Amino acid sequence: MHRRLIVPSVLAASLLLAIPASAADFKPGAPGIGDSYYPAYGNGGYDVSHYDLRLRYQPDTDRLDGTATLLAKTTQDLSRFNLDFLLDVSEVRVNGAKASFATSGQHELEITPAKPLAKGTSVTVVVRYSGVPSTKTAYGFSTWHRTPDGAVAADEPESAWWWYPSNDHPLDKATYDVSVSVPDGTQAISNGTLQSQSSKLGRTTFNWRSNKPQATYLTTLAVGKFDITTGTTDSGIPVVNAYSKDLGDNDGAARASVERTGEVVDWLSGYFGPYPFSAVGGYVPNTTTGYALETQTRPFYSQKQFASGSNVSVVVHELAHQWYGDDVSLKGWKDIWINEGFARYAQWLWSDSEGEGTTQELADYVYASHPADDPFWTIKPGDPGAENQFELPVYDRGALAIQALRNDIGDDAFFAILKGWPQDHAYGNASVADFQKYAEKVSGKPLAGLFDTWLFQPVKPATAAKAQARIATSAATPAQPKSWKQITATNTVHEH
Ligand SMILES: [Zn+2]
Repeated sequence: MHRRLIVPSVLAASLLLAIPASAADFKPGAPGIGDSYYPAYGNGGYDVSHYDLRLRYQPDTDRLDGTATLLAKTTQDLSRFNLDFLLDVSEVRVNGAKASFATSGQHELEITPAKPLAKGTSVTVVVRYSGVPSTKTAYGFSTWHRTPDGAVAADEPESAWWWYPSNDHPLDKATYDVSVSVPDGTQAISNGTLQSQSSKLGRTTFNWRSNKPQATYLTTLAVGKFDITTGTTDSGIPVVNAYSKDLGDNDGAARASVERTGEVVDWLSGYFGPYPFSAVGGYVPNTTTGYALETQTRPFYSQKQFASGSNVSVVVHELAHQWYGDDVSLKGWKDIWINEGFARYAQWLWSDSEGEGTTQELADYVYASHPADDPFWTIKPGDPGAENQFELPVYDRGALAIQALRNDIGDDAFFAILKGWPQDHAYGNASVADFQKYAEKVSGKPLAGLFDTWLFQPVKPATAAKAQARIATSAATPAQPKSWKQITATNTVHEH
Protein backbone atom coordinates (compact mmCIF):
# COMPACT_ATOMS: atom_id res chain seq x y z
CA MET A 1 0.00 0.00 0.00
CA HIS A 2 1.26 3.41 -0.93
CA ARG A 3 0.37 6.27 1.36
CA ARG A 4 0.76 9.76 0.03
CA LEU A 5 2.50 12.08 2.42
CA ILE A 6 1.08 15.54 2.70
CA VAL A 7 3.60 17.97 4.10
CA PRO A 8 3.69 21.75 4.51
CA SER A 9 5.36 23.45 1.58
CA VAL A 10 8.43 24.70 3.47
CA LEU A 11 9.17 21.23 4.77
CA ALA A 12 8.58 19.82 1.29
CA ALA A 13 11.15 22.20 -0.13
CA SER A 14 13.75 21.20 2.46
CA LEU A 15 13.07 17.52 1.76
CA LEU A 16 13.66 18.12 -1.93
CA LEU A 17 16.95 19.79 -1.10
CA ALA A 18 17.86 16.92 1.22
CA ILE A 19 17.44 14.24 -1.44
CA PRO A 20 20.34 15.20 -3.71
CA ALA A 21 22.54 15.76 -0.65
CA SER A 22 21.96 12.27 0.75
CA ALA A 23 22.15 10.62 -2.68
CA ALA A 24 25.58 12.19 -3.02
CA ASP A 25 26.71 10.17 0.02
CA PHE A 26 26.27 6.98 -1.98
CA LYS A 27 29.60 6.48 -3.70
CA PRO A 28 31.09 3.68 -5.78
CA GLY A 29 33.08 1.10 -3.80
CA ALA A 30 36.82 1.20 -4.45
CA PRO A 31 38.04 -1.08 -7.27
CA GLY A 32 40.74 -2.45 -4.92
CA ILE A 33 40.76 -3.40 -1.24
CA GLY A 34 43.93 -1.37 -0.60
CA ASP A 35 46.75 -3.92 -0.94
CA SER A 36 50.09 -2.16 -1.41
CA TYR A 37 51.46 -4.89 -3.74
CA TYR A 38 48.27 -5.47 -5.74
CA PRO A 39 46.19 -2.26 -5.70
CA ALA A 40 43.42 -3.66 -7.95
CA TYR A 41 42.93 -6.91 -6.02
CA GLY A 42 39.78 -7.18 -3.96
CA ASN A 43 37.30 -4.34 -3.72
CA GLY A 44 36.00 -1.81 -1.25
CA GLY A 45 32.61 -1.09 0.27
CA TYR A 46 31.37 -4.52 1.33
CA ASP A 47 32.35 -7.70 3.09
CA VAL A 48 31.32 -11.16 1.83
CA SER A 49 30.28 -13.77 4.40
CA HIS A 50 29.29 -16.67 2.10
CA TYR A 51 29.71 -17.86 -1.49
CA ASP A 52 27.25 -20.35 -2.96
CA LEU A 53 28.66 -21.57 -6.28
CA ARG A 54 26.58 -23.81 -8.54
CA LEU A 55 28.75 -24.87 -11.44
CA ARG A 56 28.49 -27.06 -14.51
CA TYR A 57 31.76 -27.99 -16.20
CA GLN A 58 32.43 -29.76 -19.49
CA PRO A 59 35.98 -31.23 -19.50
CA ASP A 60 36.25 -31.74 -23.28
CA THR A 61 35.46 -28.12 -24.16
CA ASP A 62 36.50 -26.36 -20.94
CA ARG A 63 33.11 -24.67 -20.80
CA LEU A 64 32.02 -23.52 -17.37
CA ASP A 65 28.48 -22.37 -16.57
CA GLY A 66 27.82 -20.97 -13.14
CA THR A 67 25.51 -19.18 -10.78
CA ALA A 68 27.24 -17.50 -7.86
CA THR A 69 25.21 -16.24 -4.92
CA LEU A 70 27.15 -13.98 -2.57
CA LEU A 71 25.93 -12.93 0.85
CA ALA A 72 27.55 -9.68 1.86
CA LYS A 73 27.24 -6.68 4.14
CA THR A 74 27.92 -3.14 2.98
CA THR A 75 30.61 -1.17 4.81
CA GLN A 76 29.71 2.18 3.22
CA ASP A 77 26.80 3.78 1.37
CA LEU A 78 27.21 2.28 -2.10
CA SER A 79 26.01 3.56 -5.45
CA ARG A 80 27.84 0.65 -7.11
CA PHE A 81 30.49 -1.91 -6.27
CA ASN A 82 32.97 -4.22 -7.98
CA LEU A 83 33.69 -7.93 -8.05
CA ASP A 84 36.85 -9.46 -9.55
CA PHE A 85 36.01 -11.78 -12.44
CA LEU A 86 36.95 -12.73 -16.01
CA LEU A 87 34.16 -14.94 -17.40
CA ASP A 88 31.16 -13.68 -19.39
CA VAL A 89 28.31 -12.46 -17.21
CA SER A 90 24.72 -12.71 -18.47
CA GLU A 91 22.79 -11.41 -15.48
CA VAL A 92 23.37 -9.82 -12.09
CA ARG A 93 20.74 -9.41 -9.42
CA VAL A 94 21.14 -7.46 -6.20
CA ASN A 95 18.59 -8.19 -3.48
CA GLY A 96 16.43 -9.88 -6.11
CA ALA A 97 16.32 -7.00 -8.59
CA LYS A 98 18.21 -6.91 -11.87
CA ALA A 99 21.32 -4.78 -11.67
CA SER A 100 23.28 -3.26 -14.51
CA PHE A 101 26.88 -4.26 -14.93
CA ALA A 102 30.00 -3.48 -16.94
CA THR A 103 33.60 -4.61 -17.06
CA SER A 104 36.63 -2.40 -16.48
CA GLY A 105 40.35 -2.68 -15.79
CA GLN A 106 41.97 -6.11 -15.92
CA HIS A 107 39.40 -8.08 -13.93
CA GLU A 108 36.73 -5.75 -12.59
CA LEU A 109 33.02 -6.42 -12.82
CA GLU A 110 31.22 -3.16 -11.92
CA ILE A 111 27.73 -3.72 -10.57
CA THR A 112 25.18 -0.91 -10.26
CA PRO A 113 22.16 -2.00 -8.23
CA ALA A 114 18.72 -0.64 -9.12
CA LYS A 115 18.67 1.13 -5.75
CA PRO A 116 21.74 2.38 -3.88
CA LEU A 117 22.77 0.30 -0.88
CA ALA A 118 22.93 1.84 2.58
CA LYS A 119 25.92 1.15 4.82
CA GLY A 120 25.58 -1.80 7.18
CA THR A 121 22.87 -3.65 5.29
CA SER A 122 22.80 -7.27 4.15
CA VAL A 123 23.03 -7.74 0.41
CA THR A 124 22.49 -10.79 -1.77
CA VAL A 125 24.22 -10.74 -5.13
CA VAL A 126 23.46 -13.32 -7.81
CA VAL A 127 25.77 -13.55 -10.83
CA ARG A 128 24.95 -15.84 -13.76
CA TYR A 129 27.88 -16.54 -16.02
CA SER A 130 29.53 -18.82 -18.52
CA GLY A 131 32.70 -19.04 -20.52
CA VAL A 132 35.82 -20.97 -21.41
CA PRO A 133 38.27 -20.10 -18.61
CA SER A 134 41.36 -21.13 -20.61
CA THR A 135 40.61 -18.34 -23.13
CA LYS A 136 40.72 -15.60 -20.47
CA THR A 137 43.77 -13.69 -19.28
CA ALA A 138 44.48 -10.75 -17.02
CA TYR A 139 47.78 -8.85 -17.08
CA GLY A 140 48.72 -11.30 -19.85
CA PHE A 141 48.57 -14.45 -17.75
CA SER A 142 46.20 -17.23 -16.81
CA THR A 143 46.30 -19.44 -13.73
CA TRP A 144 43.58 -21.80 -14.98
CA HIS A 145 45.35 -25.13 -15.49
CA ARG A 146 43.91 -27.42 -18.15
CA THR A 147 44.60 -31.13 -17.79
CA PRO A 148 43.93 -33.96 -20.31
CA ASP A 149 40.71 -34.81 -18.43
CA GLY A 150 39.64 -31.48 -16.91
CA ALA A 151 41.07 -28.44 -15.21
CA VAL A 152 42.42 -27.12 -11.92
CA ALA A 153 42.09 -23.75 -10.17
CA ALA A 154 44.88 -23.50 -7.59
CA ASP A 155 47.25 -20.58 -7.61
CA GLU A 156 48.50 -17.67 -5.54
CA PRO A 157 47.75 -14.85 -5.19
CA GLU A 158 45.14 -15.13 -7.92
CA SER A 159 42.99 -18.06 -9.04
CA ALA A 160 39.34 -17.12 -8.46
CA TRP A 161 38.95 -14.80 -11.47
CA TRP A 162 38.75 -17.78 -13.82
CA TRP A 163 35.91 -19.59 -12.09
CA TYR A 164 33.86 -17.45 -9.72
CA PRO A 165 33.23 -13.73 -9.07
CA SER A 166 34.64 -12.59 -5.74
CA ASN A 167 36.13 -9.96 -3.52
CA ASP A 168 39.53 -11.40 -4.31
CA HIS A 169 41.74 -10.68 -1.33
CA PRO A 170 42.54 -12.65 1.86
CA LEU A 171 41.15 -9.76 3.95
CA ASP A 172 37.63 -10.82 2.96
CA LYS A 173 37.24 -14.46 4.01
CA ALA A 174 33.95 -16.32 3.75
CA THR A 175 32.35 -19.75 3.98
CA TYR A 176 31.57 -21.70 0.82
CA ASP A 177 29.20 -24.19 -0.71
CA VAL A 178 30.64 -25.39 -4.02
CA SER A 179 28.37 -27.58 -6.14
CA VAL A 180 29.84 -28.92 -9.38
CA SER A 181 28.10 -30.96 -12.08
CA VAL A 182 30.45 -33.02 -14.28
CA PRO A 183 29.94 -35.95 -16.68
CA ASP A 184 29.56 -39.35 -14.96
CA GLY A 185 32.95 -40.97 -14.40
CA THR A 186 34.59 -37.60 -13.75
CA GLN A 187 35.10 -36.19 -10.25
CA ALA A 188 35.02 -32.64 -8.92
CA ILE A 189 37.27 -31.91 -5.94
CA SER A 190 37.02 -28.81 -3.77
CA ASN A 191 37.59 -27.75 -0.16
CA GLY A 192 36.05 -29.03 3.03
CA THR A 193 33.63 -31.91 3.32
CA LEU A 194 31.75 -33.70 0.56
CA GLN A 195 28.19 -33.17 1.75
CA SER A 196 26.60 -35.26 -1.00
CA GLN A 197 27.10 -36.70 -4.45
CA SER A 198 24.37 -37.70 -6.89
CA SER A 199 24.04 -38.82 -10.51
CA LYS A 200 21.27 -38.02 -12.97
CA LEU A 201 21.03 -38.09 -16.78
CA GLY A 202 24.69 -38.84 -17.28
CA ARG A 203 26.04 -36.20 -14.92
CA THR A 204 27.27 -36.34 -11.35
CA THR A 205 27.01 -33.45 -8.93
CA PHE A 206 29.49 -33.05 -6.08
CA ASN A 207 28.48 -30.77 -3.18
CA TRP A 208 31.42 -29.50 -1.12
CA ARG A 209 31.17 -27.32 1.98
CA SER A 210 33.72 -25.14 3.80
CA ASN A 211 32.15 -24.08 7.07
CA LYS A 212 35.03 -21.92 8.32
CA PRO A 213 36.22 -18.61 6.85
CA GLN A 214 38.32 -19.22 3.74
CA ALA A 215 40.30 -16.83 1.54
CA THR A 216 39.42 -16.67 -2.15
CA TYR A 217 42.84 -17.91 -3.34
CA LEU A 218 42.58 -20.86 -0.95
CA THR A 219 39.34 -21.97 -2.57
CA THR A 220 40.11 -24.65 -5.12
CA LEU A 221 38.43 -26.62 -7.88
CA ALA A 222 39.75 -29.68 -9.67
CA VAL A 223 37.82 -31.60 -12.29
CA GLY A 224 39.20 -34.82 -13.72
CA LYS A 225 39.30 -38.57 -13.26
CA PHE A 226 40.37 -39.05 -9.66
CA ASP A 227 40.78 -41.95 -7.28
CA ILE A 228 39.47 -40.74 -3.93
CA THR A 229 40.63 -42.19 -0.59
CA THR A 230 39.06 -41.45 2.77
CA GLY A 231 40.07 -41.95 6.40
CA THR A 232 40.11 -40.34 9.82
CA THR A 233 43.06 -39.02 11.82
CA ASP A 234 43.80 -40.26 15.35
CA SER A 235 42.28 -37.00 16.60
CA GLY A 236 39.08 -37.62 14.59
CA ILE A 237 39.47 -35.31 11.59
CA PRO A 238 37.96 -36.74 8.39
CA VAL A 239 40.55 -37.10 5.60
CA VAL A 240 39.72 -36.96 1.88
CA ASN A 241 42.56 -37.34 -0.61
CA ALA A 242 42.33 -37.49 -4.40
CA TYR A 243 44.80 -38.72 -7.01
CA SER A 244 44.50 -38.30 -10.75
CA LYS A 245 44.27 -41.70 -12.43
CA ASP A 246 46.87 -40.35 -14.84
CA LEU A 247 49.94 -39.87 -12.60
CA GLY A 248 52.03 -42.51 -14.34
CA ASP A 249 55.32 -43.28 -12.59
CA ASN A 250 54.65 -40.60 -9.94
CA ASP A 251 51.53 -42.34 -8.65
CA GLY A 252 53.19 -44.43 -5.93
CA ALA A 253 55.37 -41.64 -4.57
CA ALA A 254 52.42 -39.22 -4.57
CA ARG A 255 50.28 -41.61 -2.55
CA ALA A 256 53.15 -42.57 -0.22
CA SER A 257 53.44 -38.86 0.63
CA VAL A 258 49.88 -37.51 0.68
CA GLU A 259 48.49 -40.59 2.48
CA ARG A 260 50.64 -39.42 5.43
CA THR A 261 48.35 -36.34 5.74
CA GLY A 262 46.46 -37.56 8.81
CA GLU A 263 49.66 -38.45 10.65
CA VAL A 264 51.28 -35.11 9.75
CA VAL A 265 48.28 -32.97 10.72
CA ASP A 266 48.13 -34.60 14.16
CA TRP A 267 51.91 -34.15 14.54
CA LEU A 268 51.62 -30.45 13.62
CA SER A 269 48.82 -30.01 16.19
CA GLY A 270 51.46 -30.71 18.82
CA TYR A 271 53.25 -27.51 17.78
CA PHE A 272 50.44 -25.28 16.50
CA GLY A 273 47.46 -26.31 18.65
CA PRO A 274 44.16 -27.90 17.59
CA TYR A 275 43.58 -28.25 13.84
CA PRO A 276 41.27 -25.35 12.92
CA PHE A 277 39.07 -26.97 10.24
CA SER A 278 36.54 -29.78 9.97
CA ALA A 279 38.27 -31.78 7.24
CA VAL A 280 41.72 -32.33 5.80
CA GLY A 281 43.34 -34.04 2.83
CA GLY A 282 45.23 -33.31 -0.36
CA TYR A 283 44.93 -33.81 -4.08
CA VAL A 284 47.35 -34.56 -6.89
CA PRO A 285 46.00 -33.73 -10.34
CA ASN A 286 47.72 -34.41 -13.67
CA THR A 287 48.81 -30.81 -14.25
CA THR A 288 52.15 -29.90 -15.81
CA THR A 289 52.83 -27.41 -12.99
CA GLY A 290 55.63 -27.90 -10.48
CA TYR A 291 54.44 -26.30 -7.26
CA ALA A 292 52.23 -27.13 -4.31
CA LEU A 293 49.68 -24.84 -2.66
CA GLU A 294 47.99 -24.70 0.74
CA THR A 295 44.40 -24.64 -0.58
CA GLN A 296 42.31 -24.76 2.59
CA THR A 297 41.72 -28.21 4.09
CA ARG A 298 42.84 -29.77 0.81
CA PRO A 299 46.30 -28.77 -0.43
CA PHE A 300 47.14 -29.02 -4.11
CA TYR A 301 50.30 -30.96 -5.05
CA SER A 302 51.78 -30.94 -8.53
CA GLN A 303 52.79 -34.47 -9.43
CA LYS A 304 56.31 -33.17 -10.16
CA GLN A 305 56.70 -32.73 -6.38
CA PHE A 306 57.00 -36.53 -6.30
CA ALA A 307 59.15 -37.10 -9.39
CA SER A 308 62.19 -37.99 -7.25
CA GLY A 309 60.21 -40.20 -4.90
CA SER A 310 58.00 -39.59 -1.90
CA ASN A 311 58.28 -36.25 -0.09
CA VAL A 312 56.50 -35.92 3.24
CA SER A 313 58.29 -32.60 3.79
CA VAL A 314 56.10 -30.85 1.21
CA VAL A 315 53.02 -32.30 2.92
CA VAL A 316 54.30 -30.85 6.20
CA HIS A 317 54.75 -27.45 4.50
CA GLU A 318 51.25 -27.25 3.00
CA LEU A 319 49.57 -28.58 6.15
CA ALA A 320 51.52 -26.12 8.34
CA HIS A 321 49.87 -23.40 6.24
CA GLN A 322 46.47 -24.56 7.47
CA TRP A 323 47.40 -22.73 10.70
CA TYR A 324 49.92 -20.23 9.28
CA GLY A 325 48.27 -18.71 6.21
CA ASP A 326 44.79 -20.24 6.15
CA ASP A 327 43.46 -20.00 9.72
CA VAL A 328 45.52 -16.83 10.27
CA SER A 329 45.74 -15.14 6.88
CA LEU A 330 47.93 -12.24 5.94
CA LYS A 331 46.57 -8.69 6.04
CA GLY A 332 48.45 -7.57 2.97
CA TRP A 333 50.51 -9.58 0.50
CA LYS A 334 53.61 -7.85 1.87
CA ASP A 335 53.07 -9.96 5.03
CA ILE A 336 53.82 -13.21 3.16
CA TRP A 337 56.48 -14.14 5.75
CA ILE A 338 53.80 -15.01 8.31
CA ASN A 339 52.77 -17.73 5.83
CA GLU A 340 55.98 -18.94 4.23
CA GLY A 341 58.52 -18.44 7.00
CA PHE A 342 56.51 -20.66 9.32
CA ALA A 343 55.56 -23.30 6.74
CA ARG A 344 59.27 -23.62 5.95
CA TYR A 345 60.15 -23.72 9.65
CA ALA A 346 57.63 -26.55 10.10
CA GLN A 347 59.68 -28.52 7.55
CA TRP A 348 62.75 -27.87 9.70
CA LEU A 349 60.88 -29.15 12.77
CA TRP A 350 59.89 -32.27 10.82
CA SER A 351 63.52 -32.77 9.78
CA ASP A 352 64.53 -32.45 13.43
CA SER A 353 61.98 -35.00 14.62
CA GLU A 354 62.91 -37.42 11.82
CA GLY A 355 66.59 -37.19 12.80
CA GLU A 356 67.52 -35.69 9.43
CA GLY A 357 69.04 -32.44 10.67
CA THR A 358 68.13 -30.14 13.55
CA THR A 359 66.56 -26.73 13.03
CA GLN A 360 69.88 -25.20 14.16
CA GLU A 361 71.83 -27.28 11.64
CA LEU A 362 69.45 -26.14 8.91
CA ALA A 363 69.83 -22.51 10.03
CA ASP A 364 73.64 -22.85 10.04
CA TYR A 365 73.53 -24.37 6.58
CA VAL A 366 71.34 -21.60 5.13
CA TYR A 367 73.51 -18.91 6.72
CA ALA A 368 76.76 -20.43 5.45
CA SER A 369 75.42 -21.29 1.97
CA HIS A 370 74.91 -17.65 1.02
CA PRO A 371 78.00 -15.40 1.11
CA ALA A 372 77.49 -11.75 2.01
CA ASP A 373 77.46 -10.66 -1.65
CA ASP A 374 74.76 -13.21 -2.59
CA PRO A 375 71.62 -11.37 -3.83
CA PHE A 376 69.80 -13.77 -1.50
CA TRP A 377 70.36 -11.23 1.31
CA THR A 378 68.99 -8.28 -0.66
CA ILE A 379 65.43 -9.61 -0.44
CA LYS A 380 63.70 -8.63 2.78
CA PRO A 381 61.40 -11.45 3.94
CA GLY A 382 59.37 -8.95 6.00
CA ASP A 383 58.51 -6.88 2.92
CA PRO A 384 59.98 -8.58 -0.16
CA GLY A 385 58.13 -6.66 -2.89
CA ALA A 386 55.46 -8.16 -5.14
CA GLU A 387 58.04 -9.40 -7.65
CA ASN A 388 59.98 -11.30 -4.95
CA GLN A 389 57.02 -12.49 -2.96
CA PHE A 390 57.64 -16.17 -3.59
CA GLU A 391 61.41 -16.06 -3.93
CA LEU A 392 63.71 -18.33 -1.91
CA PRO A 393 64.72 -15.76 0.77
CA VAL A 394 61.09 -15.43 1.93
CA TYR A 395 61.29 -19.14 2.76
CA ASP A 396 64.88 -19.85 3.79
CA ARG A 397 65.86 -16.49 5.24
CA GLY A 398 62.34 -16.38 6.65
CA ALA A 399 62.87 -19.65 8.56
CA LEU A 400 66.35 -18.51 9.60
CA ALA A 401 64.71 -15.47 11.22
CA ILE A 402 62.42 -17.78 13.16
CA GLN A 403 65.41 -19.78 14.45
CA ALA A 404 67.04 -16.47 15.47
CA LEU A 405 63.87 -15.56 17.37
CA ARG A 406 63.82 -18.95 19.08
CA ASN A 407 67.44 -18.63 20.17
CA ASP A 408 66.83 -15.11 21.45
CA ILE A 409 63.73 -15.79 23.57
CA GLY A 410 64.29 -19.44 24.49
CA ASP A 411 62.29 -22.57 23.74
CA ASP A 412 59.53 -22.08 26.33
CA ALA A 413 58.44 -18.68 25.03
CA PHE A 414 59.06 -19.70 21.42
CA PHE A 415 56.86 -22.78 21.47
CA ALA A 416 54.19 -20.90 23.43
CA ILE A 417 54.14 -18.32 20.62
CA LEU A 418 54.04 -21.00 17.91
CA LYS A 419 50.98 -22.56 19.52
CA GLY A 420 49.31 -19.39 20.78
CA TRP A 421 49.45 -17.32 17.59
CA PRO A 422 46.88 -19.33 15.56
CA GLN A 423 44.39 -19.18 18.41
CA ASP A 424 45.05 -15.51 19.10
CA HIS A 425 44.13 -14.63 15.49
CA ALA A 426 41.86 -17.58 14.65
CA TYR A 427 40.01 -17.25 11.32
CA GLY A 428 41.32 -13.72 10.96
CA ASN A 429 44.15 -11.73 9.43
CA ALA A 430 47.46 -10.50 10.77
CA SER A 431 50.62 -8.70 9.71
CA VAL A 432 54.33 -9.15 10.38
CA ALA A 433 54.05 -6.23 12.82
CA ASP A 434 51.22 -8.03 14.63
CA PHE A 435 53.43 -11.08 14.99
CA GLN A 436 56.28 -9.05 16.42
CA LYS A 437 53.88 -7.47 18.92
CA TYR A 438 52.56 -10.88 19.93
CA ALA A 439 56.06 -12.34 20.30
CA GLU A 440 57.06 -9.37 22.49
CA LYS A 441 53.98 -9.83 24.65
CA VAL A 442 54.53 -13.56 25.20
CA SER A 443 58.31 -13.40 25.63
CA GLY A 444 58.35 -10.12 27.56
CA LYS A 445 61.32 -8.99 25.44
CA PRO A 446 61.68 -6.04 23.06
CA LEU A 447 62.24 -7.60 19.62
CA ALA A 448 62.31 -4.63 17.21
CA GLY A 449 66.07 -4.98 16.63
CA LEU A 450 65.92 -8.70 15.98
CA PHE A 451 62.99 -8.42 13.56
CA ASP A 452 64.67 -5.54 11.74
CA THR A 453 67.97 -7.41 11.36
CA TRP A 454 66.53 -10.69 10.14
CA LEU A 455 63.47 -9.56 8.18
CA PHE A 456 63.93 -5.97 7.06
CA GLN A 457 67.61 -5.31 6.27
CA PRO A 458 68.76 -6.01 2.70
CA VAL A 459 72.12 -7.36 3.92
CA LYS A 460 73.46 -10.53 5.49
CA PRO A 461 73.16 -10.22 9.28
CA ALA A 462 76.69 -9.69 10.59
CA THR A 463 78.64 -11.10 13.51
CA ALA A 464 76.59 -9.70 16.38
CA ALA A 465 73.35 -10.96 14.90
CA LYS A 466 75.10 -14.20 14.00
CA ALA A 467 75.95 -14.76 17.64
CA GLN A 468 72.41 -13.83 18.60
CA ALA A 469 71.16 -16.56 16.30
CA ARG A 470 73.89 -18.93 17.55
CA ILE A 471 74.97 -19.56 14.00
CA ALA A 472 77.96 -21.92 13.86
CA THR A 473 81.13 -19.85 13.86
CA SER A 474 83.53 -22.37 12.33
CA ALA A 475 84.99 -21.33 8.99
CA ALA A 476 83.98 -24.56 7.29
CA THR A 477 80.58 -24.73 5.64
CA PRO A 478 78.43 -27.07 7.71
CA ALA A 479 77.49 -30.39 6.14
CA GLN A 480 74.27 -30.43 4.17
CA PRO A 481 71.51 -31.78 6.44
CA LYS A 482 69.98 -35.02 5.21
CA SER A 483 66.54 -33.39 4.85
CA TRP A 484 67.86 -30.56 2.64
CA LYS A 485 67.02 -32.03 -0.76
CA GLN A 486 63.42 -32.78 0.16
CA ILE A 487 62.97 -29.34 1.70
CA THR A 488 64.35 -27.58 -1.38
CA ALA A 489 62.22 -29.79 -3.65
CA THR A 490 59.22 -27.78 -2.39
CA ASN A 491 60.69 -24.52 -3.64
CA THR A 492 58.91 -24.44 -6.99
CA VAL A 493 56.04 -22.78 -5.27
CA HIS A 494 54.80 -20.28 -7.73
CA GLU A 495 54.75 -19.72 -11.43
CA HIS A 496 52.52 -18.17 -14.02
ZN1 LIG B 1 54.12 -22.22 1.27
